[in-house]
Amino acid sequence: MEIMSESKLLNILQTHFGHKEFRMQQSSIIDSVLSGQDTIGIMPTGGGKSVCYQVPALYLDGVTVVISPLISLMQDQVINLAQNGIKASFLNSTQTYEQRTQVRQDISSGESKLLYLSPEGLVSGSMLNYLKQLEISLIAIDEAHCVSQWGHEFRKDYTKLGMLKEHFPQTPILALTATADSKTRKDIAAQLILDEPETFLSSFDRPNIEYQICERDNEVKQLIDFIKDGHENEVGIVYCLSRKKVEKIAKELQDHGFEAAPYHAGLSSEFREKVQLRFNAEEKIIIVATIAFGMGIDRPDVRFVAHLDLPKSLEGYYQETGRAGRDGQDSVAWMVYGLQDVMKLSQMLETTDASELYKKVARHKLDAMLSLCETIECRRKYLLGYFEEELEEDCGNCDSCLSEVQKWDATVDAQKLLSTIYRTGQVFGAGYIIDVLRGSKSQKVLDRGHDQLSVYGIGREETKHHWNSVLRQLLHRGHIGIKNWEYRNLCLTDKSGEILKKETIFEMRVVKEKKGKVSKRSSEALLMHGQDELFESLRSLRRELASENNVPPFVIFSDKTLHDMCHLLPKTKDDFLLVNGVGRKKCESYADQFMSVISSY
Ligand code: ADP
Ligand code: ZN
Repeated sequence: MEIMSESKLLNILQTHFGHKEFRMQQSSIIDSVLSGQDTIGIMPTGGGKSVCYQVPALYLDGVTVVISPLISLMQDQVINLAQNGIKASFLNSTQTYEQRTQVRQDISSGESKLLYLSPEGLVSGSMLNYLKQLEISLIAIDEAHCVSQWGHEFRKDYTKLGMLKEHFPQTPILALTATADSKTRKDIAAQLILDEPETFLSSFDRPNIEYQICERDNEVKQLIDFIKDGHENEVGIVYCLSRKKVEKIAKELQDHGFEAAPYHAGLSSEFREKVQLRFNAEEKIIIVATIAFGMGIDRPDVRFVAHLDLPKSLEGYYQETGRAGRDGQDSVAWMVYGLQDVMKLSQMLETTDASELYKKVARHKLDAMLSLCETIECRRKYLLGYFEEELEEDCGNCDSCLSEVQKWDATVDAQKLLSTIYRTGQVFGAGYIIDVLRGSKSQKVLDRGHDQLSVYGIGREETKHHWNSVLRQLLHRGHIGIKNWEYRNLCLTDKSGEILKKETIFEMRVVKEKKGKVSKRSSEALLMHGQDELFESLRSLRRELASENNVPPFVIFSDKTLHDMCHLLPKTKDDFLLVNGVGRKKCESYADQFMSVISSY
């Protein structure tokens, strides 16, 4: 790229978006599309995909067409751009004739440089004819993985997008997605008939997300303790597997005084819409949801994602946790897991009529998910390793790195468990095995005469919880199998002998108290004494402005921008422009009000 246009692009980024510089892949992607090349950009959520087509849209003559899967996403983007002084438009089925005419006018006059369309809106004959009259400089396809059956969010409407190349052979196409998988990537290029596309793959690391995984004990209490530990006034999502649990947990949180709302596909669409609105508008809100609450979330300041049930795969885990911290600020991915999860998911899997191959893949994915929970190494290293990305050093921002992970030799305990399974005939489930091991006097145990076995009571000095955890790891590493899926009976496997014969040392993870993290919430920690008062005042001004303008607070300014104001304490408009996230338009609109709060402080 020539020096001239390089500085022009940077100028667009700074004056319109208030960002000081491009992120690595943004400039490569923009260079590529500006040279007329079909391009695939793969960036994690929060990586800044929109800049990759919004900046070229402002730079190039003509109009940039953006294909986006959801009407709500289009609306958010148009509102966001308007706040930055950029006129953008969308055409969709919800608009009146007058609105559509207005949009067409804005586009023809060049006032609006971005046109958002849904895939189904695009393919109608009249739309294509309309587009052909325009000078289209770039076509951007957001969430491009929806075009592929390999992706996990395949959408039929997307398959028709292949015709774009046919109708607009000269126009570069930019396909953007956060899906890492190489099969999906290849399929995107094939389905969209891209012409030797350049592919840019960003790191999938989300360094601002702290990973925490703990064993389930009392999940409600654990969740509440977690939230109370610095997340009380924040936005969060709590994921549960079942609708019933979603409602139960939402109720628990409400009873404990939190702003919480349930969300799942079984609720009426009016109710869900209301929850979605609250989620967008309120400054602190916790949504308890099934994964039905997923696509279309683009709130940047979600501070935590909590999982009360194990996701089925690391792809799912990565995607769901990725909804935290899109603004790059410190956020937490927190999860509890336990034996029931493994059992439940395995059972769901084994009882489907899916093909053996599918089950095999799914078992493998679940296994990888569990290994993340039980690993004694850095969680991030493991997670990125799964996506074929190597992290050289431990991350320093996960519970493995932050708390002392100790291993202990659990071989003897493992032997006790295996022997109990063996002696009782390999026909019982985990609960019963642990009862025998702990010397329970329950009628069932006595009736069967299992109090006479040599293994009866040999594990009474340890808790049920302890035994569950040993059992889980034995199960996960294949030293125990599950024989009968209906009753979840445990049995020995080929790998049980290694432990019984002491050929293998069976080690487990011991988790101790946290070491005390130095910079939890780094940006907030940096606020000097008294500055948090200022931050609060700025926040309340933001709230007022948001309700006046009828937009969510984060559309006015992000938390990061407010923090930056606290540090820089701008006194003039020129100072104010130096604040991260302040472009020309927002400076004009808001500088005076924010600076007056700052000067009174
Ligand atoms: P994605 O669509 O990839 O999830 P977005 O386009 O919504 O991400 O951007 C995520 C966040 O990153 C937004 O808050 C945006 O303002 C911010 N952002 C994007 N590009 C930059 C940049 N070059 N410098 C600083 N912040 C950026
Ligand atoms: Zn780590």
